[in-house]
Amino acid sequence: MSRADRLEALVDEEGLAAIVVTNLANVRYLTGYTGTSGACVVGAGVRVFVTDFRYVAQAECEVDPGFDRLQGRQDLLEDAAKRVPAGRVGFEDHHLTVRAHQRLSGFVADGTELVPAGRLVERLRAVKDADELARIREAARLADEALNGIVDRGLVGRAEREVALGLEADMRSLGSEPSFPSIVAGAANGALPHARPGDRTIGEGELVVLDFGCVVDGYCSDCTRTLATGRLPDDAAAVYDLVLDTQVATLDRVRPGAECRAVDAFARERIEAAGHGERFGHGLGHGVGLEVHELPTLSKAGEGELEPGNVVTVEPGVYVPDRFGVRIEDLVVVTERGAEVISTAPKELRTVS
Ligand code: ZN
Ligand code: ZN
Repeated sequence: MSRADRLEALVDEEGLAAIVVTNLANVRYLTGYTGTSGACVVGAGVRVFVTDFRYVAQAECEVDPGFDRLQGRQDLLEDAAKRVPAGRVGFEDHHLTVRAHQRLSGFVADGTELVPAGRLVERLRAVKDADELARIREAARLADEALNGIVDRGLVGRAEREVALGLEADMRSLGSEPSFPSIVAGAANGALPHARPGDRTIGEGELVVLDFGCVVDGYCSDCTRTLATGRLPDDAAAVYDLVLDTQVATLDRVRPGAECRAVDAFARERIEAAGHGERFGHGLGHGVGLEVHELPTLSKAGEGELEPGNVVTVEPGVYVPDRFGVRIEDLVVVTERGAEVISTAPKELRTVS
């Protein structure tokens, strides 16, 4: 069954006649199209792809021939709406803006009712096939290789921004590109989980959080390592041990049938027991694929259970305000029997001066 066929079955299960897909990652997943302007409609016997004139030639090459390919004029939604069947038609309410939804409502025929459809395509995307896994593996491998460049060049005396640039230059010379703006955050900056690398010079005896990933054929990787730049204060070394122990123990919990919420809770309880519960403010992990953050979600709000083919991160962290942060993140494939960690960079505390 093609991806569009599987979506059609899901659409039918939800009591919908069709779905209008506007999230470009979903459009790519269903049709193969990699451009930046496109939408598609999938329903019983309906396979329509629309783009504007700039991407017609590209769509000719890329879009699955099972789809009717249309050149839209100004508003893709208008052209997509014309091919929507009567009845209840889903839209991607997590993606479509309120304004776009209003436009779409104006374009559909009178007998059509637009219904929020949630993340139907994202649910399909959460389970990867062998080709997708191969790309994610390759993206993880290239990111690991780029990290080696940092270790070789050293950290002390360099600005965070310079280190991030070097990392991303290495990714590009390896034939890849960053899957998101790399984080290089030393000392107190490391206590900000989403720090942006700045002009601060990395000193000796601090912890540096590096969070980075590559893209291969649209598929992302995501990895975090925390390196030391010399002898650490005892409490920083202790937090590193805590995060590492928690991360390794939690990897064992990743297996088919495990509840997403329970995997998060397992890590959280360990960190809470060590007195750092308040300092682990984000979810344990997230799915990775065409987007860096996708389903399934390993957090307090995570829904459902893990299944074979899921690719998730396991990334506990402890952030001590104004001092330092530690996060260790691996990319993990859920297999039939358990899990396979595809990040290979060492996790024992490494000193890079
Ligand atoms: Zn990350
Ligand atoms: Zn992540």
